[in-house]
Amino acid sequence: MKVAAYHAGRHLAEHELLAPGKACPMCGSVSTTRLWAVQRDPDVVLVRCHGCRAVSVDRFPTPEALDEYYGSYYDDAPDDAVTTDDPSRLASRIASYVVNRSGGVRLLDLGGGDGSIGVAVLSRLATSGEVVVVDYDHRRRAAAPAEISLSQVPTLADVDGAFDVVVASAVLEHLPRPAAVLEELLGRVKPGGVFYARTPYVVPLIGVASKVGVAIDFTFPAHLFDLGSDYWARLSTWLPAFDEFEVLASRPSPVETGFRAHPARTMVSAVMKAPWRLFGSRWTFVGGWELAARRSS
Ligand SMILES: [Zn+2]
Repeated sequence: MKVAAYHAGRHLAEHELLAPGKACPMCGSVSTTRLWAVQRDPDVVLVRCHGCRAVSVDRFPTPEALDEYYGSYYDDAPDDAVTTDDPSRLASRIASYVVNRSGGVRLLDLGGGDGSIGVAVLSRLATSGEVVVVDYDHRRRAAAPAEISLSQVPTLADVDGAFDVVVASAVLEHLPRPAAVLEELLGRVKPGGVFYARTPYVVPLIGVASKVGVAIDFTFPAHLFDLGSDYWARLSTWLPAFDEFEVLASRPSPVETGFRAHPARTMVSAVMKAPWRLFGSRWTFVGGWELAARRSS
């Protein structure tokens, strides 16, 4: 029995893979445990880091292979793959972590697609403000009421200033070097502002399912990392930028089905010069984790 998430994995050839890394691509630790292969011949193996507790693949796709993957993926995807279904549940969850913010709230959403999540968060907060979405794909744009300004920019480098709310939902796991992006995002949070992240946490589920003969696709090369409770709990031990933050919540994220369009990649990395495409993220069969943290005033 084979169960796959909406964005299916793909077998990559030797020339589409970078050489195996010796250190954790998240925190640099060399203390790791190999888990199991997400593909064979050539092997790509999941590795758990004993430092930051991230699970990552031991071999990353080349930028060219990723571009090809997302490009053809998008071309094959049905039209509704890039629509935002119902952003209300996630928006309500994010808004619940934001307090004492009214009037002129600035929200940054990395990989925020058409901006509907950000607009919905501000609407939940009953405030005016500004939503800035970092996303390569600007073809779709959410409707926003007059009191909410919505802008879409291609890279984090195009973003000015600090924000009351910074959102990284279902995006970090796609980045070959997410730590630098995470650090940048934390630095964009105003004192008293909130950082919200949502990441897949499927490795334990895959392990259990395999014992009863169910193969769950890790969806490599879409997913390069699995970041669960241990990872978020240890963030302060290796990422100094997190020192100023107080954890508001670290818990399973709400299960959503096709609730959101988000970028396959964003143009956040200098390495990533190719135009990454969007794809839909569906979580019917997989687990996820969320972290909300407030920067000290
Ligand atoms: Zn690590």
